[in-house]
Amino acid sequence: MGERIFTLDDLSGVRSVCGCLACKLSTVFAEYLADLRTGYPGKVTTLGHRGAAPGTTAVPHFLAVRVGDALLDVVVWEEMRPDQLRAWLPAAEARARVPQLAARIPRLVRIRQALRAGTFTPSGPTGAALSAGGRYPSFRFLVEHWPTLKKEFTP
Ligand SMILES: [Zn+2]
Repeated sequence: MGERIFTLDDLSGVRSVCGCLACKLSTVFAEYLADLRTGYPGKVTTLGHRGAAPGTTAVPHFLAVRVGDALLDVVVWEEMRPDQLRAWLPAAEARARVPQLAARIPRLVRIRQALRAGTFTPSGPTGAALSAGGRYPSFRFLVEHWPTLKKEFTP
């Protein structure tokens, strides 16, 4: 499945505790994830304006939002318990990279924009997964393929 493109029209009628744009987008995205995921323990919990609770991990997600002619990346944060993180990202070595990459949002956004613009094409299985495999540069994909992306992406 390709990447879902959201528009501001998706926000009409959305109820969230905080009425700001980021929280409304979080609510829309949480519903989307809940429908998409199978075998995920518990429910999707977005962070809104708080930090992650002790013992949990703050995981960013990138939403592509169409605004006029532009596709903008919006970051929404999800809080995951250890069992949820394992279910979402089974590979331990990729899971260990989550906090490190969560602190590098601007670089990841540049990679997403370069992939979208066609100015960056990763080699090997990473590029193949994007071109033919139906994967898109979600945060999970970026974490899973970080060794290749880090080596090959020069901003
Ligand atoms: Zn808010």
